[in-house]
Amino acid sequence: MERESLEMDVVFVGAGPANLSGALHLARLVAVHDEAVARGERAGEPLGEVQIAVIEKGAAVGSHILSGAVMDPRALKELIPDFVEQGAPLESPVKEDFFLYLTEKRAIRSPIMPPPLRNHGYYIVSLNKLTAWLGEQCEAAGVNIFPEFPGAEMLYDKKDAVVGVRTGDKGINKEGKRRANFEPGVDLLAKVTVLGEGPRGSLTKQLSQRLNLNDGREPQVYSLGVKELWELSDERYPAGRVTHTLGYPSDARTYGGGWIYGLQNRIVNIGYVTGLDYHDPLLDPHSEFQRFKQHPLVAQLLEGGKLLRYGAKAIAAGGFHAMPQLYADGVLLVGDCAGFLNSQRLKGIHTAIKSGMLAAETIFEALLAKDFSAKQLRRYEKLVRDSWIMPELRKVRNFHAGFRHGRWLGMANAGLQFLTGGRAWGLFDRAGAEAGHGAMKKLWEFGYKSAAIEQRYPNLKFDGKLTFNKLTDVYHASVGHDEDQPVHLHVLDTEICSTRCAEEYGNPCQRFCPAAVYEMVEDGGNGRQKLQINFSNCVHCKTCDIMDPYQIINWVTPEGGGGPEYKNM
Ligand code: SF4
Repeated sequence: MERESLEMDVVFVGAGPANLSGALHLARLVAVHDEAVARGERAGEPLGEVQIAVIEKGAAVGSHILSGAVMDPRALKELIPDFVEQGAPLESPVKEDFFLYLTEKRAIRSPIMPPPLRNHGYYIVSLNKLTAWLGEQCEAAGVNIFPEFPGAEMLYDKKDAVVGVRTGDKGINKEGKRRANFEPGVDLLAKVTVLGEGPRGSLTKQLSQRLNLNDGREPQVYSLGVKELWELSDERYPAGRVTHTLGYPSDARTYGGGWIYGLQNRIVNIGYVTGLDYHDPLLDPHSEFQRFKQHPLVAQLLEGGKLLRYGAKAIAAGGFHAMPQLYADGVLLVGDCAGFLNSQRLKGIHTAIKSGMLAAETIFEALLAKDFSAKQLRRYEKLVRDSWIMPELRKVRNFHAGFRHGRWLGMANAGLQFLTGGRAWGLFDRAGAEAGHGAMKKLWEFGYKSAAIEQRYPNLKFDGKLTFNKLTDVYHASVGHDEDQPVHLHVLDTEICSTRCAEEYGNPCQRFCPAAVYEMVEDGGNGRQKLQINFSNCVHCKTCDIMDPYQIINWVTPEGGGGPEYKNM
């Protein structure tokens, strides 16, 4: 069967807020330009029919999208000034803000609200509903949206300019052979390809390595957010109430914090973020979240309630110093895969939307100039630098780095930023920058004598009412992958798993994966264990690709449509 090629003008890879905003903005810029030229109000040529496509690996726009989320509406207002009247799905305006420090038994309310956590004027949203709505706006503006089309490979010309993207094949069985329903992926050729894959995008990783886009930048660092939606038995937590917490259950050396947001209809969105630069190889972010729910304040809130949904996703937290070069010949990077998130405010939707809009403006100029080279697309970096994004990210550029020294020094560093215009002491600390997996200590370095997980969580029981094991939670993420396909988690050397990793780290993939994908099982009864990959559980959070201490796990896109089916997340 022949592989088909489709000629587009611009292809956006990933239907997240950055790319959908970019596609919508571009379609409108082109339409406004052509109308102005037709009316004689603008000089130049009309651009005519510009073919814009957004491809998405999920079954529908929004089905793989997960976030907190409290949205700063600044960028959405720029994109769609009357977004409220237009019916953007907003759960509630923020009505109350709480910031609590948790000890094991107590919750201490901060007398002052730290300015970065003030959410007055913002909205609690379900990002997967918001992106689905943005997808509808795109389609109404003439953008082609292709769900179930995962970007599998970048396409380059002989000079390494990006000329499009190849989507994944369908109908390959687990042995790598073609099934009766085989369909080869499509080569989507484009003048500009925009990568908006979210944190640790698989194509972004390939592209950055090939074109050295991270040269001279700090390694990106990440956190993992694990989240559940609960339906409460009464109105005890009103819509519009926002609570952020620090302290329990994270130890003082580990970056972590919780959130509880009140949605409509007695639903609360509750979650916990763990920095993926932790030291303890036996730490389990999912277990940290379950312990968070056991805190008396949270347990009381959830008592009598019902778990509705579950999800997990990595968050790119490195910010300003870790941003890659944002352009190359024929390609731009937007949103979380380019590290636009403000980690101090734990907000990235507004910067993602704005980055997509600036990418659209860059592409619009490139279309007029008929030039898609790096020299022309470099304008994107200038637009980003001159926009409100960079001042915002510069002010918090050393926020996450401070937490490398533990919670208290991290907080002092965060305070210092206000006095020093963001410099804090991070300026003198750049030498210590390393990828998060490099911070993980070996078992004996951390003081463990063996890899038994009970050493970290001896009292954690999953009671099925308040606390849930990973498999139960995965069920609530409605994950589905066709089982008869190649494993999309490529472990380059599984011998390491049975030998060095077992001895040195106790196979931490079993713990940092929030979906029970990795399991060490008996290998023929000789006392040795081997890695088993339950890939169909994967919620596409990318943590394994980030946190594996030997960096031998490569997450690649599975067959289109597979993965979680997030709703209201
Ligand atoms: Fe996340 Fe990797 Fe586990 Fe999938 S296998 S859920 S990407 S950690």
